[in-house]
Amino acid sequence: MATNRTFTMIKPDAVENGSIGGILKMINEAGFRIVAMKYTKLSAEAAGKFYEVHKERPFYGELVDYMSAGPIVAAILEKENAVADFRTLIGATDPTKADEGTIRKIYAKSIAANAVHGSDSDENAQIEGDFYFSKLERF
Ligand code: GDP
Repeated sequence: MATNRTFTMIKPDAVENGSIGGILKMINEAGFRIVAMKYTKLSAEAAGKFYEVHKERPFYGELVDYMSAGPIVAAILEKENAVADFRTLIGATDPTKADEGTIRKIYAKSIAANAVHGSDSDENAQIEGDFYFSKLERF
């Protein structure tokens, strides 16, 4: 079932280098409505839980360390075809392979520190949004 919602995080590297405003501007200009948003920091335990699906991948430890190294911005976004359109807006995981004009091409430093997260399915968008936000925090 398409929910027209996706979940994103502005990751610690992008927060650290002052890119929150620029990334949110691109998200707004691409037609996404903000349903929920918070500025927060993941503990190592919470980052481990969020990325549990990647537990078997060789970079899991690095990913958990990086995602818990500093504050992030988490948000639920709404738009028709939200999951796929947001993946297009952010570009490929590896910024050297991302299309011109995508958020990762502009703001990401590396495949690990790649500026933003975007859900890869409606199901994961729901799970990830529920990880951060209660019903009362959605508008
Ligand atoms: P995404 O859906 O485009 O975010 O990519 P994946 O689901 O494949 O990976 C999840 C996240 O793990 C990525 O966004 C990166 O932050 C990180 N990641 C992916 N590949 C690598 C890698 O080769 N090394 C490291 N250190 N991190 C990676």
